[in-house]
Amino acid sequence: MFNKKTIADIDPRGKKVLLRVDFNVPIENGVVGDDTRIRAALPTIEDLLSRGAAVLLCSHLGRPKDAPDPQYSLAPVAEYLAKLTSAPVKFSPECIGPEAQAAAAALQPGEILLLENTRFYPGETQNDPAMAAELAKLADIYVNDAFGSAHRAHASTEGVARLLPAAAGLLMEKEIRYLGQALADPRRPLVAILGGAKVSDKIEVIRNLLGKADQLLIGGGMANTFLKAQGFELGDSLVEADAVETAKALLAEGGDKLHLPTDVVIADAFDAAAQHKTIPAGDVPDGWRILDIGLQTAAAFSEQVAMAGTVVWNGPMGVFEMAPFAAGTFALAQAVADSGADSIVGGGDSAAAVQQSGLADKITHISTGGGASLEMLEGKLLPGLAALQDKE
Ligand code: AMP
Repeated sequence: MFNKKTIADIDPRGKKVLLRVDFNVPIENGVVGDDTRIRAALPTIEDLLSRGAAVLLCSHLGRPKDAPDPQYSLAPVAEYLAKLTSAPVKFSPECIGPEAQAAAAALQPGEILLLENTRFYPGETQNDPAMAAELAKLADIYVNDAFGSAHRAHASTEGVARLLPAAAGLLMEKEIRYLGQALADPRRPLVAILGGAKVSDKIEVIRNLLGKADQLLIGGGMANTFLKAQGFELGDSLVEADAVETAKALLAEGGDKLHLPTDVVIADAFDAAAQHKTIPAGDVPDGWRILDIGLQTAAAFSEQVAMAGTVVWNGPMGVFEMAPFAAGTFALAQAVADSGADSIVGGGDSAAAVQQSGLADKITHISTGGGASLEMLEGKLLPGLAALQDKE
């Protein structure tokens, strides 16, 4: 099923390994915030070091405008990483070019060199072959552990992989195995839970999952557009007028598989202190908006989840960042935790919601990659994965 070379298939002893990681972490005033992504890369880093490699790390951070910008420097991450590993951690203020080459040449087995932000160079996002060639000059082997960036064909995720022996890191392998298995050969029934703000982001996900899942539970802001498609007035709720026709078509296609909220929590402002109440799904008064699924819906969705063999979840059921509108999301988190099903939660907001619910350790796999996991749910090939060498 996972047919790419992994680090188990390479011998990194005495080699320089260019390891693409996803160190796109929040940094405020030079201090690293949530370090989940850094920790998630440690097993691969430590494995390569323990087998005698010199490890060069590269990553993007934020969205600098194709030029150096101190607020997006990876220097604070180098400092942070030094606290998590016993290996020496060096930092190169250049990602490519003579300075980076000199630092790479001086790097010894057992040492780490973190290269500056790949997006300080326009060639990165353009997947410029010249940038890929510069990266390839630094190392003997390329390993991609940046699942969170695997849906982007950039020089450090795709271009360089075609120029060196290229394998997947442990995190990449784990992410692809869990999500790939859930989609290709799940324990049935496969129940998909979709939520979040916008349906337009997830139309392809719904289409793909309608062909694969046994039940599709839709909550969050994206359910509104479906309710609109059923002819309800939704007051001031978030509705995507452009997507109503598509929602109608998906409803027709989905039939009994597709489940929508039967009751909703509405509020008279987008505010934690707003007045709120639960009403049956239907017309929403002017001045009010839907901010969560209701208890009855949460119970019905939970019943589906309880019967599941596999659950795939992407997107919160309501505005869980505000306590009065978090109940639906947390009820589903509890249901998934209690279900005993193989459970995979997509990155981003859904991962944050599950963490906040305190049930994260009851979930089989929480993905580190929001965009990448969505593209897998859409059934797309990830360019950063496709470019790696196939197993022999
Ligand atoms: P996404 O990034 O598309 O997964 O959307 C996540 C966001 O959707 C979260 O910040 C939620 O607060 C928001 N959200 C969930 N339900 C609603 C809703 N009914 N109305 C507006 N926003 C919502």
